[in-house]
Amino acid sequence: MTVTDIDRHTDRHLALLDAGWHVPDAWPGPVHDPEEGTPAERIRAVAASGFASLAIPEAFGGAGADLAGTAAAQRALARRDPHAAIALNMHSLTVGLMTDYWERHRDTTSWLLEGIATQNALVASAFAEPGGSANFLSSVSTARREGRGYVVSGTKYPCSLASTATLVCLSARVAGTDDTIIALCPSASPGLRVEGDWPSLGMNASDTAKLVLDEVEIDDRLVFHRAPADSIDDTVIAGIVWFAVLIGATYHGVLTSLLDLAVKTVTTSDRHGPRTVRIGQAARDLLALGGACRQLARDWTDGSLGGEPALATAMALRSSLSDTRDRVVSTLTPVIGSRMYTRGQHAAALHLDSLAAHHHPPSLLACDEAVGAYCTGRPLGFDPSS
Ligand SMILES: Cc1cc2nc3c(=O)[nH]c(=O)nc-3n(C[C@H](O)[C@H](O)[C@H](O)COP(=O)(O)OP(=O)(O)OC[C@H]3O[C@@H](n4cnc5c(N)ncnc54)[C@H](O)[C@@H]3O)c2cc1C
Repeated sequence: MTVTDIDRHTDRHLALLDAGWHVPDAWPGPVHDPEEGTPAERIRAVAASGFASLAIPEAFGGAGADLAGTAAAQRALARRDPHAAIALNMHSLTVGLMTDYWERHRDTTSWLLEGIATQNALVASAFAEPGGSANFLSSVSTARREGRGYVVSGTKYPCSLASTATLVCLSARVAGTDDTIIALCPSASPGLRVEGDWPSLGMNASDTAKLVLDEVEIDDRLVFHRAPADSIDDTVIAGIVWFAVLIGATYHGVLTSLLDLAVKTVTTSDRHGPRTVRIGQAARDLLALGGACRQLARDWTDGSLGGEPALATAMALRSSLSDTRDRVVSTLTPVIGSRMYTRGQHAAALHLDSLAAHHHPPSLLACDEAVGAYCTGRPLGFDPSS
């Protein structure tokens, strides 16, 4: 979209906020009806539309989208269907991370990526465990060394794509050591089952449930990371960078929908006054968040940012997302009015869905401390100091 296009657009606020987000041509955009079918059916429909293979290299049958392109697709999906977007965010993260890993190691990850692209298969990401932990790498689930792999037991909750994923990327602590493994596990593996669902207040059509692992065998070839839970290597940094950008883009889409509602309230009623300032404040916050997401994506992809500076930037972005969410919601509340608090209203749904932005890793308890630690020459970590 050119500068003139943005200026002439009837929905100028949308054109302004959409500028710079380039959805890969290989994906037609969200075509499903977010009101039709079950959550699992909607998620499968999005996966089948080409979304599942967006971040996979073209050589393996994917669209070869980079981080910025995948993030733009996440945002576009979140504008239409926040619940499907938050679920597929976990897939985009895992596939992006696998691609990133393959680019650094040129190993057999390519077979998995090829399989995912061929089948439009979905990959879940199961790190969180009941009771919570600020450090997403410290796991209560255990992995026992046996034969040519590990036997894993434990519970993962909440886990999105619980019933729709073909593969699950999970973490577990190696018994008798301080190491954590990150491994892929076929969801049809004996001993792996899905239980109940997550009675969350928002984002509740994201196929999020509990995964129970009871002596599940995982082959060594599917283990792509083993290190002490507090060690931060290239794979961990790549994961946090991808996650911070993708989650930022996803909630940017949700909050853009809220701004759209507020703008239409003002323009339809033709009552402006202090509402104009509030629209301006919310738009400015979203422009800054969007710019920060895209900049980190570009800097990561072209290699101008890597290692600990990239990790610090990603953790700063993750904290900023939460701050932005709270400011945008409170700024727009008087403009939108009690629809923000009324059951069945789109505004109320967006309000609750966006609240979930606070409950993703890395924990808000750890982010600012990690950025400060980087700035003052101290070690970065995911565990907030006690
Ligand atoms: C929409 C959505 C989808 C998600 N999908 C996934 C996914 O697919 N995979 C995944 O790994 N994670 C997923 N998560 C989970 C996310 O990664 C967080 O780990 C999880 O939400 C915990 O966040 P928290 O704010 O409770 O922080 P935490 O740091 O885990 O907890 C904060 C504090 O609250 C305490 N606490 C938390 N829960 C309880 C409890 N039940 N009882 C007592 N104390 C508690 C903790 O001990 C800690 O002191 C998802 C989250 C959301 C919002």
